[in-house]
Amino acid sequence: MSGEQNRTAIVTGAARGIGAATARRLAHDGFAVAVLDLDEQACKSVVAEFESVGGRGLAVGADVSDEEAVTAAVERVASELGAPTVLVNNAGILRDNLLFKMTVTDWDAVMNVHLRGAFLMSRATQKYMTEAKWGRIVNLSSTSALGNRGQVNYSAAKAGLQGFTKTLALELGRFGVTVNAIAPGFIATEMTQATAARMGVSFEELTKTLVERIPVNRPGTPDDIAHAVSFFTSEGASYVSGQVIYVAGGPTT
Ligand code: NAP
Repeated sequence: MSGEQNRTAIVTGAARGIGAATARRLAHDGFAVAVLDLDEQACKSVVAEFESVGGRGLAVGADVSDEEAVTAAVERVASELGAPTVLVNNAGILRDNLLFKMTVTDWDAVMNVHLRGAFLMSRATQKYMTEAKWGRIVNLSSTSALGNRGQVNYSAAKAGLQGFTKTLALELGRFGVTVNAIAPGFIATEMTQATAARMGVSFEELTKTLVERIPVNRPGTPDDIAHAVSFFTSEGASYVSGQVIYVAGGPTT
């Protein structure tokens, strides 16, 4: 039996998009997977999908930026599914605007979900990883970390997650825990559909414009990112830590 078949993973923001694809992929890899999102009901269909092909999972409703909710959710996963030794910090939101129009509420909302959320989830799960002397944390950054007009909050949070990743890698490495980040480029999900709507263009128009600048000549899919997560969480990736991999269909500047 491979290591994955004895281990439990939590994927946040996993009711849809990249998180759902990642949960399905990790279940396929043999992990028991907690599908965590704001709406527990919405998580159930993702769990049902991989349970129908022999996987094991749990739908968990929690806001990753709420300390009490995170503590309760992680304890529930530990007692109902198994000690969580894999964490994918994927939950995310956009509140785009140019600096002069950005409200404090929109700044705080983005910081809270991406940074405070990743901090709370990592802190709550690390004890299970250090006790097991094995663990994997994967944080979802973005090419926006390199700067993106209209996303001062989001780019700051995604760059912050890269520093968070490297520091956790330094702190947790001695316990057999690796910590890495994935920085996707343009991935076709509801998040990017919402971006197109906000820009007043169709998703097809946005895709056409962006794909012209993507060397592999296509938008990314949630499975492209899930595949990278699968590598970082694998047994064989134990010597890869503190890294940021850009999954963007080409090099980034
Ligand atoms: P998505 O389709 O919008 O899914 C994000 C999920 O996170 C939603 O189900 C959302 O729930 C959930 N969520 C939001 N706030 C939460 C909270 N406080 N607690 C728990 N769950 C919460 O986004 P995606 O495109 O799959 O993106 C996933 C991650 O990849 C994000 O971190 C995003 O920033 C990053 N990323 C995406 C792209 C891209 O092109 N799509 C590129 C780079 C990086 P609700 O629907 O209920 O709000």
